[in-house]
Amino acid sequence: MSYRPTPRDVLELAWCPRYLWYTRHVPVPPTERMKAGKHVEEAAKRRLAARLRAEVNTLYIDIGWARGAIDAVLRKHAAAPIEVKMGPKRDIYRWQLYAEAYIMARGLGTAVHRAYLYYADTDTLEEKPITTSEMKIAEKMLIKARTVVEGPPPPAQRTPKCRYCEYRNICEIPQK
Ligand code: SF4
Repeated sequence: MSYRPTPRDVLELAWCPRYLWYTRHVPVPPTERMKAGKHVEEAAKRRLAARLRAEVNTLYIDIGWARGAIDAVLRKHAAAPIEVKMGPKRDIYRWQLYAEAYIMARGLGTAVHRAYLYYADTDTLEEKPITTSEMKIAEKMLIKARTVVEGPPPPAQRTPKCRYCEYRNICEIPQK
């Protein structure tokens, strides 16, 4: 059976295709910092629920060839996914959000016109419009993520990100 990509895979693909490949073939156990981050995220979700006066629960969606978890769903005029992030704003998160909007629209059979990033540290909700263009990008990136995971490791490319990468010790790029 083919690998079924997730919005998280799309984020990792945007970060570094080789990193995505490693996460699926050489998974590293969660560190204490990651586990602590989960607790902080749960607290952030409770804050978000109070702010929106809504229930905030993780929604799991399976559309057959792709799947994924959505941190929260805002149901006002139309449903909209919310992705909770700790730390500073990062433009790269939008790719994950588009993929969440895509699987939500396909999985729930609903129109999705907006999606949100919730930056917990600053209690900021950032809205992103979702149009046919974002849906097409999301579909392409999910397919690309599947191709990367199912294929050989993509070539290593040294970037400043490598310094913070948990795979830097096994990645074949020459390390400084
Ligand atoms: S060390 Fe750099 S090239 Fe290698 S997986 Fe990490 S980010 Fe990608």
